[in-house]
Amino acid sequence: MSESTFMGVPRAKISWAPVIDYAKCTFCLECDKFCPHKVYEVNREERRLIVAHPEHCVVFCRACSKTCGPDALSFPNKAEVTERIKALRKEGA
Ligand code: SF4
Ligand code: SF4
Repeated sequence: MSESTFMGVPRAKISWAPVIDYAKCTFCLECDKFCPHKVYEVNREERRLIVAHPEHCVVFCRACSKTCGPDALSFPNKAEVTERIKALRKEGA
């Protein structure tokens, strides 16, 4: 299988994934139910949702955050990530 890329840059080099604010997260799991990309994993013993596979998150997607009532999900700065992707493209990443 070929390596997944975004705008010609290896996905693994792009930092884009949700960040969970555990002070706000109520463990409702709506975000995990919503996302089809297996980004999250559920630790039922500790009642904790984990961003286990950030590399599965679709670059610049934020869709699951709309399912989160307490607004516990945040994402990197899109403009900064875009600049980083452009720089990587220049470097021939
Ligand atoms: S931002 Fe999109 S791809 Fe990433 S975890 Fe949420 S729904 Fe899934
Ligand atoms: S939708 Fe929000 S509150 Fe619910 S599990 Fe996901 S991050 Fe936590």
